[in-house]
Amino acid sequence: MRFVDEFRDADKARALAAAIASLCEPGRHYKFMEVCGGHTHTIYKHGIDDYLPENVSLVHGPGCPVCVIPMGRVDDAIAIATQPDVIMTTFGDMMRVPGGQGSFFDAKAAGADIRMVYSPLDSLKIARQHPDKRVVFMAIGFETTAPSTAMTVLRAAAEGIENFSIFCNHVTIIPAIKAILDSPDLRLDGFIGPGHVSTVIGCRPYDFIARQHDKPLVCAGFEPLDILQSVHMILCQLAEGRAEVENQYSRVVPWDGNAKALQVIAEVMELRPYFEWRGLGFISQSALKVRDAYAPFDAERIFELPGVRVADPKACQCGEVLKGVIKPWECKVFGTACTPETPIGTCMVSSEGACAAYYNFGRFTRERVRTATRQ
Ligand code: SF4
Repeated sequence: MRFVDEFRDADKARALAAAIASLCEPGRHYKFMEVCGGHTHTIYKHGIDDYLPENVSLVHGPGCPVCVIPMGRVDDAIAIATQPDVIMTTFGDMMRVPGGQGSFFDAKAAGADIRMVYSPLDSLKIARQHPDKRVVFMAIGFETTAPSTAMTVLRAAAEGIENFSIFCNHVTIIPAIKAILDSPDLRLDGFIGPGHVSTVIGCRPYDFIARQHDKPLVCAGFEPLDILQSVHMILCQLAEGRAEVENQYSRVVPWDGNAKALQVIAEVMELRPYFEWRGLGFISQSALKVRDAYAPFDAERIFELPGVRVADPKACQCGEVLKGVIKPWECKVFGTACTPETPIGTCMVSSEGACAAYYNFGRFTRERVRTATRQ
């Protein structure tokens, strides 16, 4: 298949692995963060780290949109869903995300009308079909999905649909990366930049990582050879004493981003002063809210919300996983109390979550075997 098979060629992967190994300085340990959950999924599905030398390690970042939703926002969404005449709509991944008072699945089992949709436009369609109901779309995701949410609000406004609103939880990637760079407990040598987000924001917003923090970042695609080539590009920069932003995923990511998509987001949404990220705490100007001009489509203004901050369960170490401080299997409840069927933390819910990726592709077993072999 075009754009798939050629990026999964085992001989090319072995050649890239050899080139990567040749660039590594003996005795130096390299730690790179893959910011995007989609990359985490590719890395463990295809065993990419088995192609890397022992002294190159990849750690996960905060780029899984479901993983960063705090428990209090889930409780707020359930409070909306349980109001009279409300139909709550959401992406499938959100159904199992635990809040302080249970998940959407629990609320649905108790009688709330909560429906899975594939896009916000599906939600708008439900609003057209049920003019007697108040239809709310639980909007999540980075700049990747924000344009489709904003477009849906514009369409609802153009059609004069009054029973549709969004519960806006869109977040922005740059402040989260800044927070990680400022974190004292993590030392990184470079970043595998998020491919999907970059299709919208482009590569320029990452400039500060190279200029102010002297770290290379390579925007990467999602096939195995994309990841290996990106690691190779980062190592080339380090070997040559460079720290720059480069674009490995140029077949999809325009350097300047998608101006139309950014314009649509800016028309409907603006930055919040601060927003809570699960495990990372409050990060200033890191999320979007609906502008005053579109207030009739803002569920936060239509419904009364508890707005209570809920602490993560004591056993949950999603914060450390999202910052790349620990690997998923190092969490005390990984694979025992916390599994994809009974998730305690969000990283075990979405297929892009690091814990789910490890769990589904057998990293727990493989890492234990590796560790035992090294001891
Ligand atoms: S195993 Fe569960 S609780 Fe632990 S970090 Fe992963 S998702 Fe969070």
